[in-house]
Amino acid sequence: MMSKNNLIELKELIQASKNIGVVSHINPDGDNLGSLLGLGLSLKSLDKEVYMIKADFIPNDYIFLNGIEELKTFDGKTLDLLFVLDCSDKNRLGLNQNLFDLSTKVVNIDHHISNTIFGDLNFVDNSVSSTGELIYDIIKGLTLPMDKDIAENLYVAISSDTGRFSYENVSSKTHEVIADLYDYSIDAYKLNKKLYQSRSLDRTKLFIEAISNVNFYNNSSIAIVKVTQKMLRKTNAKMEDTEGIVEFLRDTDSVEAAFLLKELSEHEIKVSLRTKSNVDANMICSAFGGGGHTRASGCTIKDTIIKAEELVLMEAKKYMD
Ligand code: AMP
Ligand code: MN
Ligand code: MN
Repeated sequence: MMSKNNLIELKELIQASKNIGVVSHINPDGDNLGSLLGLGLSLKSLDKEVYMIKADFIPNDYIFLNGIEELKTFDGKTLDLLFVLDCSDKNRLGLNQNLFDLSTKVVNIDHHISNTIFGDLNFVDNSVSSTGELIYDIIKGLTLPMDKDIAENLYVAISSDTGRFSYENVSSKTHEVIADLYDYSIDAYKLNKKLYQSRSLDRTKLFIEAISNVNFYNNSSIAIVKVTQKMLRKTNAKMEDTEGIVEFLRDTDSVEAAFLLKELSEHEIKVSLRTKSNVDANMICSAFGGGGHTRASGCTIKDTIIKAEELVLMEAKKYMD
């Protein structure tokens, strides 16, 4: 995947480009933002005009990231080169899909199994832990600048997308990358406190509210938890505060598939699915026009939250023994 030819082609593209964009996806997560800022800050220290472009609002969880203030909506006219990171398909750019028309060349860097290979140049490998790990390989492969700020962003990208280095696609190489990042004097303990020990009280209250209304099905192998607008009002929390709920349920021993249904509005439900051993989350979410990874996928269902619960339950049951 990360072939020498691809890297040479990318090096030439960067050299030939003056205006370079690096864009995030909708509902940006740690891998997306850490990768974007890591690559963006690295390119910025070359003599280039670099636009770090957001596609959506930045969740509070990540405002501590080095360089986050650089993320803006695109205010340029055209781009010679656009990097799309951690995005399985064009739709994941939301309103920023128009960037495809404004850019001469598009580079697609991603690790989703459902990636549609939409770039002029594609660095897509679903066996890799995170887009952050791919960005590390590209920075090293092209001998682009790396410093503490960049290394900290890549650490956040990799740690947050691997459940703190615990998922199947974590390899010895992933750990070697992390070890090398330590050599740039990253403060990993500070980053871990920010990532994993800084939950707001409102979020904890939402967590309790949601979890206490969970439904278990199929001998408790399927868990479905809902977060409604009413719960948000009651706990004073925001939809982004649902982070961590679905993983908590997945970690129950009997659970193979855990669903979180987020009521964005009365007829728009965002689904997050996590699986553990033998159920393909990407396949289930694909049935609803979404996708992602084998163990973590998402989709949107345009129906009520009650109906969405029925629909995902029916789909999941097809894959359970
Ligand atoms: P989430 O449950 O939103 O944290 O997403 C889990 C994984 O599925 C992430 O890697 C997302 O990029 C991917 N994903 C979420 N929603 C969608 C969607 N509607 N279409 C494609 N991929 C998605
Ligand atoms: Mn992502
Ligand atoms: Mn990712």
